[in-house]
Parts: sequence; C-alpha cells; structure tokens
Amino acid sequence: EEDANKIKPEYVKSFLHVSKLMPSTWIVIRIDGCHFHRFSDVHEFEKPNDARALNLMNSCAVSVLEEFKDIVFSYGVSDEYSFVLKKESQLYQRRSSEIVSAVVSLFSSMYTMKWKEFFPQKELKHPPYFDGRAVCYPTSEILLDYLAWRQVDCHINNQYNTCFWMLVKSGKSKSEAQNYLKGTQAQEKHELLTRLSGIIDYYNTLPLMFRQGSSVFWDKQEEEEIANQGKDAVGKCYKVVVDLCNIIEKSFWEAHPEILG
Ligand code: ATP
Ligand code: ATP
Ligand code: MG
Ligand code: MG
Ligand code: MG
Ligand code: MG
Ligand code: MG
Repeated sequence: EEDANKIKPEYVKSFLHVSKLMPSTWIVIRIDGCHFHRFSDVHEFEKPNDARALNLMNSCAVSVLEEFKDIVFSYGVSDEYSFVLKKESQLYQRRSSEIVSAVVSLFSSMYTMKWKEFFPQKELKHPPYFDGRAVCYPTSEILLDYLAWRQVDCHINNQYNTCFWMLVKSGKSKSEAQNYLKGTQAQEKHELLTRLSGIIDYYNTLPLMFRQGSSVFWDKQEEEEIANQGKDAVGKCYKVVVDLCNIIEKSFWEAHPEILG
C-alpha cells in the first residue's frame, strides 16, 4: 500500500522544482562552446580567428532566431552567442531550463548540420556541444550594458590573441609569448602589432568581424527586396540579418528602434 503510493504521479511530481524567469524582464541566454580550445585545435581553425568558424556560428544563430520568434537580438563572438528574448516572452512559460536547453540543443544540432557548408574539406571529428545559462535584465539600459560588456570583451580578447599569435608566428614559443604579454597595456599591444607587422595601425586593418563580433537580428527588409518577392510593400516585412555593428554606441539602437520595441 505504501509502495503503491510512491509511484502515484502527484508524489513523483512533487519533487519537481520549476524555476521561472522573472516576468517583464529581458531574458539573455548565453551559450558557449564546451572545450572549443581543443575543438578548434582538432579541426585546425586558423589562429587567432577562423572566419569560417565564425560564419558557421552566425549561421546557427540565424536558425535560432528563425525558430524562436521571441528572440529579438543576438550577439556572438568566438564560441559564444547571447540571445535576447523580448520582455513579454512567454516561451515555455519562462521556465529557465526548458528555454536554455531548447536553444542550446537547436544551436548544437545546426552547428553539426551546417558543418560541411562551412568546412567542405574537413571532417567533423567529434560532436560540438554547448552549455547555456539564462540571466534576466530588468531594464533596457542594463541589457545594453550587458551587450556592451560582451563587445568590449571581444575587443580585449582579440587584441590579446592577435598579439599572442603574431609572436608565436614570429618564432616565440607559446609560453614565451604569454610571458611577453603579461601586464601589457592596450597601447603597448597596439605598438607591438605595428612593430611586428610593419603596418601602422595594423589592428584596425583586421576584419571588422574579428574586432567587433557579429550581431544577428530581425531587420526591416528593403522595399526593393520586398517588391522582388512580390509581397506588398507596407513595411511590415522583416528578415533575420547578420550585421557587424558597434552595439556599444547608442546610435546603433537609435537607428533600430524596433529591436527593443
Ligand atoms: P570552456 O569549455 O570552459 O568554454 P573553451 O576551450 O571553450 O573552454 P573558451 O574560453 O570558451 O574556452 O574559448 C574558446 C576558444 O575556442 C578560444 O580560446 C579559441 O581557442 C577557440 N576558438 C573559438 N572560436 C574560434 C575561431 N573562430 N577561430 C579560432 N579559434 C577559435
Ligand atoms: P513538444 O515540442 O511540446 O514536446 P512534441 O510534438 O514533441 O511537442 P510530445 O508530447 O513530446 O510532443 O510527444 C512526442 C511525439 O513524437 C509523440 O506524440 C509521437 O507522435 C512522436 N514520436 C516520438 N517518438 C516516436 C517514436 N519512436 N515513434 C513514433 N512516434 C514518435
Ligand atoms: Mg564555457
Ligand atoms: Mg567555450
Ligand atoms: Mg568562449
Ligand atoms: Mg516538450
Ligand atoms: Mg516532445
């Protein structure tokens, strides 16, 4: 009798703790590749930045936005992507574990499915996987601070990695390069790059995608494109775009008021 009670659904379900994300806040899901240092070695990514790998990440992000319509904006760099869900989103009744797991799982599947498109000559040697977390931001100001933080991080890491790999390619060992860069300020790194490359302001000649990361969002389609597709041109036509934007500057958000609504 007692044993039978234990398998009643109410009893089993009573252990379930449903964690819901705070209502009326921006939800950010940040995913990050697991052990991508190794993954990028195994698959011989170009260092410090493999454009194919970044374009693959961007393409996966486009698929995520197309699937989860409540995601209004996303920003990616290296092996990470941040997805912003609109404040009112009721996706999975805002249950954190469902939202995070669905985004991470779709992203990982797309990465595997699209691999050949971006690395036609390279076999996928082991399955890529990602972890994810959800954080709520109560105001759009704080959300923009979060995104600015990621873009600043992109710049700092990229400047370091560019120096590191230039030292390595000039003949230093990895630990020598690391010691050499220990404690250097941004200005010193800038000068080091100019000296090693022989190009003034070398850093700023690098592709914008490496220096600024990538943004993926729903953007208004050009009227011309809408006309070409034979739809009526009453403005309400959006598509997911990949763009290289400065999201720290307020001007980007002022130019795209529909993103944050
Ligand atoms: P963890 O599992 O803790 O996230 P990780 O090895 O993935 O560890 P990260 O801090 O996430 O470490 O850094 C990702 C690493 O993946 C980078 O340091 C870099 O070596 C590599 N990487 C990711 N994307 C690229 C790319 N486009 N080009 C070259 N290397 C890349
Ligand atoms: P949700 O996204 O809400 O989970 P769902 O379509 O995945 O919706 P579930 O309640 O999870 O619905 O049910 C899974 C459905 O997938 C089943 O109803 C069945 O139609 C189908 N399905 C799953 N596994 C099998 C299988 N091995 N053979 C046949 N059908 C299957
Ligand atoms: Mg990680
Ligand atoms: Mg990682
Ligand atoms: Mg990372
Ligand atoms: Mg389900
Ligand atoms: Mg199901």
